[in-house]
Amino acid sequence: MRIATYARVSTDDQAQHGTSLEAQARICKEVAAKLGATEVVAYEDAGLSGAVLERPGLQALLAACAAGEIAAVVCLDPDRLARNLAHQLILTDRLETRGVELHFVQFERARTPDGRLLYAIRGAIAEFEAHKIRERTVQGKRQRLREGRVVTGTRIFGYSYDQARHRFVLDPAEAAVVRAIFALAPHLGTRAIAQTLTDAGLRGKNGGPLRQSAVHGVLRNPSYLGEMQQLRGLGCVAIPPIIDRETFQCAQDALAKRRRKPAGHGRVYLLTGVAHCAVCGGRITGSGGSRSYYACTGKRQTPRCSAPYYPAKELEALVWAKVSSELQAAARAMPAPIDVPGRPGEARAQRKLAGQRRRLMQAAAAGRLRAEDLADALAAVDARDRALQLAAGQASPGGQPQRVLHLLEATEPAARRRILRAAGVRVVIGPQTAEIFLRPASEQ
Ligand SMILES: [Zn+2]
Repeated sequence: MRIATYARVSTDDQAQHGTSLEAQARICKEVAAKLGATEVVAYEDAGLSGAVLERPGLQALLAACAAGEIAAVVCLDPDRLARNLAHQLILTDRLETRGVELHFVQFERARTPDGRLLYAIRGAIAEFEAHKIRERTVQGKRQRLREGRVVTGTRIFGYSYDQARHRFVLDPAEAAVVRAIFALAPHLGTRAIAQTLTDAGLRGKNGGPLRQSAVHGVLRNPSYLGEMQQLRGLGCVAIPPIIDRETFQCAQDALAKRRRKPAGHGRVYLLTGVAHCAVCGGRITGSGGSRSYYACTGKRQTPRCSAPYYPAKELEALVWAKVSSELQAAARAMPAPIDVPGRPGEARAQRKLAGQRRRLMQAAAAGRLRAEDLADALAAVDARDRALQLAAGQASPGGQPQRVLHLLEATEPAARRRILRAAGVRVVIGPQTAEIFLRPASEQ
């Protein structure tokens, strides 16, 4: 015979009489064994009020009973089953019409008119108690609020709870994280903020990882201004402020702006497609709203790349300065002028570069050039080669070095990106360095 046990605790109950789920289940199981159970199935609901029927454990029990899998149900007390008279009677009726016996450890239910009346009275008392508990709780909370004490049990990041004084006090380490989050809000999105602070070694609630959702929660919480809402807006208590109103408003504006504008919308990311990560070799792409940044795509993978976020404007300026000076040097080193309109000049320059490559290889083969020096020298030749092709392809009709230099003065990001791509530039970016490589033409 299969017998089910049902146990329930609500958070209020636990403080009241403290019969834990385990204790209830154990006592009920003993009774089930006495009733001749060959198998005991335990159902339970934790932290749920007996005033509602939508309890997962209870619903599962009812389903099992409806399916004819259960012969009897054992419960500690009628108030575990329901704290509402109507619910108690409905549940009892539902079980009994399916032939399921209902037993209570702390209440003997006689199948006589007197017994039924007593059972109903018991249910009425349970309902009355439920009201009383709720009333007491609300009264107590209002009283505490009048005394300026904290009533909700919610833990708020940035503060610790002083049990003795019933107050939130600043947690210096967490408050520092809150300040940092607000400081970054105008510049980075919530995910980037979580990442940046985690990279900086900062932690979230209870020393756990700082998540994007937590960052968002912090930015949206006006409590940090020094007033904590209580009892769903019924009142509030003063807590030590962490940020001022201006900072808070700034963060709200930034959040609103990001919501309206998808990441990177409308902005040309000069380095996307040519930048690679020095740490993991992944691609580095640009994104962000009003404050754009570049990040390695490896940061979204596991194991996560440890490379930092790079502010877009600064990184682009740095890389562009390096690239243009290299290209300019290469262009100036070109044999000039190149004949117009045909390409004999270009062909001559190409022959010259090929000759240089050959001589370098011969020098290395003869041991007159070290491998590193050879690599450097070949890179320089390649750069000149690239600049030459750039001049031929883009600076029409002249194909003169001056035209290349003129091109490099382009300030429009889209134009600069075309130049980077045309020149076959590859940029490797790390926390300390940004290295520029001009790929040889054969690799493109
Ligand atoms: Zn990386």
